[in-house]
Amino acid sequence: MTNQYSGPHGDIASVTGSPLWGIEVEQVVQAYRDRGWQLNYSGQPEIPPIYGGGTGPQVFGFETTRGRRVIWIPSYGGVLGQDWKHHGTREKVLWILLNSGIKVLVVGGTSGITDWRLYEKRYDSQTTVEPGDMVFPWSFYTCSQDRGLIGTSIETAWPKFDMTLDRPYCPELAMIMAAKARGYVSQGLLRRVHTIEDVRVALVTPPGITFETDFDILDWAARCQRMSEMTPNLPPVLTLHGDNFAPVFCRLAGVHLAYYHLVANRAQGMPDNAQLVQTLHELYCGNFLKVALDYEPFLLETLPVPDGRSCLCISSKHLAPEVFCQAMTQPS
Ligand SMILES: [Zn+2]
Repeated sequence: MTNQYSGPHGDIASVTGSPLWGIEVEQVVQAYRDRGWQLNYSGQPEIPPIYGGGTGPQVFGFETTRGRRVIWIPSYGGVLGQDWKHHGTREKVLWILLNSGIKVLVVGGTSGITDWRLYEKRYDSQTTVEPGDMVFPWSFYTCSQDRGLIGTSIETAWPKFDMTLDRPYCPELAMIMAAKARGYVSQGLLRRVHTIEDVRVALVTPPGITFETDFDILDWAARCQRMSEMTPNLPPVLTLHGDNFAPVFCRLAGVHLAYYHLVANRAQGMPDNAQLVQTLHELYCGNFLKVALDYEPFLLETLPVPDGRSCLCISSKHLAPEVFCQAMTQPS
C-alpha cells in the first residue's frame, strides 16, 4: 500500500445515488453551497495499486453552517460507463470512506418492491408498499460482495471476531430519519413511510446489471409469503430490489449505517407494473428529487453519531478467543 489518502475527513458521509439521479452532480454541490456550506474539497483521490491505482470517484468535502465536516460521494462512487464489479469500484469507495474517519454513513437508494400481498385477491393499498413510498429496511440478503476491505485491518472478520448482522441498519438513526420523512408525506411528496414496525423489508441486490427476471421476482414473492406465514405475529416480510451499500464493511469498521429507500416501482413481473419505467422516471425527476435535495443535507447536518448503546452497530463485533488466530497459518 503506497498511496497516502488525500481526500477529505469528517464524521459523516453520504454515498447516496439514485435519489439524486434527477440532477447533475455540480447542481447538487451548488445547492449545498447555497445553504451556506463551504466546499473545502473537490477531487478524485489517488487510489493505491491494490485497488487498481489511478484516481477514485469524485469526492466532495464540505463544512456546514454548523461547522460540521461532511463528505458526499455521488452515486455510490459509480463512474459513468464502468461496471461496478469489473472496475473494483466498491473497493475504491470503501478505501476512501475508511480513511476519511467517518462514523456515520448515509445511503439513500431507490428500489422496486416485491410485495407478495398484491397476489392476493383482496389487498389494501394502505398497507402494501407502493411506488412513492419511503422504506426503512430491516435486513438484507447476503451476496458475495458483502465483505471487508482487502489490504486493511478489516479485510476479514473470522477468526478474530464473531460478527453478527442483526439490525444492520442503525435503528437509532432510522427513528430520527423516519420522523423527518413523515413530513414529506404531509407535504404530498411521499405516499407513505414504512418502518420495521409495519413491514420487515429485506434489501436484495440484483446479481446482474439490470432488473431481475419475472422468475426471480415470483421466487422472492413466494419465499416471503412463506416466511410471513411462519412468523404470523411479526410484520410481513417483503423484499426491495436495488442497492445495499456495504452493510458488512460498515459493521466491521464500526460505522453506523443510516439507510433509506425510495420505492420507484413495483418489481419486474409484479401485477400491474406495466408502467414500471415511466413511473420510475417520473419519480426520479420529480418528487424523489425534491425529497432528496432537502433530506440529504438535513441528514448530513443533523444526524448524531450514536454512542452505540441503543444499537448493535458497534457491539455485534464480538472478540473471539485468541487461540482461534493461532489455529491458522501465520502471515509471513
Ligand atoms: Zn448504530
